[in-house]
Amino acid sequence: MTIKTRFAPSPTGYLHVGGARTALFSWLYARKHGGKFVLRIEDTDLERSTQESVNAILEGMAWLGLEYDEGPFYQTHRFERYKEIIQQLLDQGDAYYCYCSKDELDALREQQVANKEKPRYNGKCRDASHTRKEGEAVIRFKNPAQGEVIIDDLIKGKIVVANKELDDLIIARSDGSPTYNLTVVVDDMDMGINVVIRGDDHINNTPRQINILRALGVEPPKYAHVPMILGADGARLSKRHGAVSVMQYREEGFLPDALLNYLVRLGWSHGDQEIFTVDEMIALFELENVNVSASTFNNEKLLWLNHQYIMNSDPAHVAHHLSWHMGERGIDPAQGPELTEVVKAQRERCKTLVEMAEASRYFYQEFENYDEKAAKKNFKAGSDEVLRHLLAKFSAISEWDGEKLHQIVLDTAEELDLKLGKVAQPLRVAVCGTAVSPSIDVTLSLLGRDKTLNRMEKAIKFIQDKNKS
Ligand code: GLU
Repeated sequence: MTIKTRFAPSPTGYLHVGGARTALFSWLYARKHGGKFVLRIEDTDLERSTQESVNAILEGMAWLGLEYDEGPFYQTHRFERYKEIIQQLLDQGDAYYCYCSKDELDALREQQVANKEKPRYNGKCRDASHTRKEGEAVIRFKNPAQGEVIIDDLIKGKIVVANKELDDLIIARSDGSPTYNLTVVVDDMDMGINVVIRGDDHINNTPRQINILRALGVEPPKYAHVPMILGADGARLSKRHGAVSVMQYREEGFLPDALLNYLVRLGWSHGDQEIFTVDEMIALFELENVNVSASTFNNEKLLWLNHQYIMNSDPAHVAHHLSWHMGERGIDPAQGPELTEVVKAQRERCKTLVEMAEASRYFYQEFENYDEKAAKKNFKAGSDEVLRHLLAKFSAISEWDGEKLHQIVLDTAEELDLKLGKVAQPLRVAVCGTAVSPSIDVTLSLLGRDKTLNRMEKAIKFIQDKNKS
């Protein structure tokens, strides 16, 4: 039997990290078993679904590399099919028209609450004639009255629910539109989904869905309910904990592989291993090893992982993602050194690609101002002389070579009887605008001859002007 899993988001917002983790688990499970992974957009809530959210979900999936084998399917394209199944359930006597008014149902609920009973539909229309009468009607599923539903959840273990706990759920609204539990059941059945991996907020729906599937004569899929994600304060992860949208992590400078690695470890473990390539995740992932209880999102750890990925991934891969951030900041990578070389020079000191892009701007763009503190400290009277000395020597060399340039800096310090910092720092501020950059040899070779010499001349003039006034 080919394993088939699905990710079934409702497009009512961005792709958040909880959804992304569910998608990742479903994707890993399918990949591990040589199965198929389906993307289904559950857009039947016409008021809350937007095309923008659909795009955000597709974009998030693509950025994370969670490619699907089938889909995206859209539930709004399948209304005819849902109608057919609703009719089948009516014809079989497994569904019925319910004419109870809202007022009636409200009164019923009030009474049940007053009696400290669980609010539920009392089945008033259940045994009435199945022929359609005048007036507004919803259609309810006739849940079995006896027996129990057993779920052998692949994460939570055995869950038993008595049928008498389940009331007759509405499967079509009075306008004929199908409800969530019906559409999911029809889709999981038609799409041949045999393992449903989803958030445990759906666990109450599962026995109802199993009963509908059984009424349709179909063997239910296996279920795996993934526990939720909490913020550091123990509340369910939400916007007020910071970024929760996958694409916001992109904007904040995270690599997709780092986020995937973080998400897989959120509630799943393999010994004490922290870093997994995607191939390792596929090989090692087991639903049985997913935690039963909720996991807490830890931004510090994600940041640490991101840094690990920035430092240890193929620089060309990091450069590919860095290039997007350069573009976002109006920096043209064609106006300076190879991005791959910049990655190699910066990766130790940058935990995010945003930091890296900002810290590399001066390789590509001229700057208007020097960092105030750095200029104050390093552009003293006399620094212009040091720079002039260096400039003469730099201009004279035939080959722009980092090591040679570094040697010139060392020699200059000795010749002028200055500490190295008194030579290297003014030079650094002159060419970078700030006192922080990779080592001088790397910085100067990345900058190249023209930018270096021009900026030194500018700085000499700046220091002279400053000390004149
Ligand atoms: N559309 C549902 C949601 O976004 C998921 C349904 C399911 O996975 O069964 O919460």
